[in-house]
Amino acid sequence: MTHQIRTDIPRTIARAVRQKCKFCCVVCGHWIYELDHIKEWAEVHEHTEDNLICLCPNHHSKKTKNLISAAQAKRYLEKRASESLPFTASDTQLIEPDTVALGTNVIDGFHANSGDVFRFGNSSYLSVKKYPGEAYRIDCRIIDNIGKPSLVIEENEMVIGTHMWDIEQKGCKLTFRYGPGDIFMEIELNASKNYINLQGNFDIGLTNHIAINGRGIYLGKIVLLKFNHIHSCRDGLIINQHPENHRCLANNHGNYTSVVSSCTAMRCDVGIMNTINGFNNKFSECRTAIMYDIPTLNRLSKEHDHIVKVQAGMLPSELVR
Ligand SMILES: [Zn+2]
Repeated sequence: MTHQIRTDIPRTIARAVRQKCKFCCVVCGHWIYELDHIKEWAEVHEHTEDNLICLCPNHHSKKTKNLISAAQAKRYLEKRASESLPFTASDTQLIEPDTVALGTNVIDGFHANSGDVFRFGNSSYLSVKKYPGEAYRIDCRIIDNIGKPSLVIEENEMVIGTHMWDIEQKGCKLTFRYGPGDIFMEIELNASKNYINLQGNFDIGLTNHIAINGRGIYLGKIVLLKFNHIHSCRDGLIINQHPENHRCLANNHGNYTSVVSSCTAMRCDVGIMNTINGFNNKFSECRTAIMYDIPTLNRLSKEHDHIVKVQAGMLPSELVR
């Protein structure tokens, strides 16, 4: 018998298997899984879609120890594949985040009265609350480009839309794709670092998408925010359909857009509003750290002139209009 070197599973086959298994362990629905050969690799020496299955580390180990047979694994797969439910429920207990990052913008200091980490209009995309003596409570609801929920977390229980072209899990990171090379969203749920990082391209009905990535938060090519630190504020980043008048460190609602950098906002109604290139700012104990209104973002999508620079050391009274 010739000795055969085990090769990697081709990406196209791995993706097809993930989709067939509804992006979770076929036995328990856990979102952390490995691809396993139903008939062992040592027997078949090949990677075929029909012979591969997603199993969580626990059920993978049970199958390796023959506590789950190949025939049972196939039955679990058939059951999972035939389910018409739009979601797969998974782990009931997520991580306890000290920090949530939106790209390079960091949010921490959660408490029971915290509002939303990230909200568009009336839709809360992500919120984290910490109740005294109790666990964290994470809620999340992210809609994709066809209006279907792709990721939902309700009171720490995560459910994942199974209609996506691909959802790839590597370590504690999930990558959602509309098609080859077309990433919609990534979420890292890192328990050992008590850390959640959400990045993606979000369509909120503007000319341009809001993109959250490793460089910052963008509206089309315009940098909105980067390297800001939001601590103990009720709300983090809010994009509001209906702007109100708020007491702000820098409120640029209306006629112009400013650059705000290296400022500290404490106990404001809103830290900064409608600024572009807001970077290295610190917000603490504000009602809302950062806010944009939709009319301004729409205008920014078309043009952005009249830029006024706001620098560290200026008093809030000089800036409020
Ligand atoms: Zn499992």
